[in-house]
Amino acid sequence: MTTEHLSCQVVVELLTDYLDGALDADTVAALEAHLATCPACVLYLEQLRTVIESAGRLPPDTLSEAALAELEAAFRGYRPPATQ
Ligand SMILES: [Zn+2]
Repeated sequence: MTTEHLSCQVVVELLTDYLDGALDADTVAALEAHLATCPACVLYLEQLRTVIESAGRLPPDTLSEAALAELEAAFRGYRPPATQ
């Protein structure tokens, strides 16, 4: 399966759908497998969840542009100490 090894970039793009429950079971399994091994994406997921909760009942489309751009910037600023 191509979803077996997701890159962080792909995971980040899938997380809003993941929180929406919009992903199929295979994708969810692959995404959760990635989260189990990737603290950076877990951190991103937690931030995303916080933003969505604080945004209350705003539809996801309202959230996506500004808030997600901000989160993506924060995410890209995060450097795991592994690779140099
Ligand atoms: Zn990741």
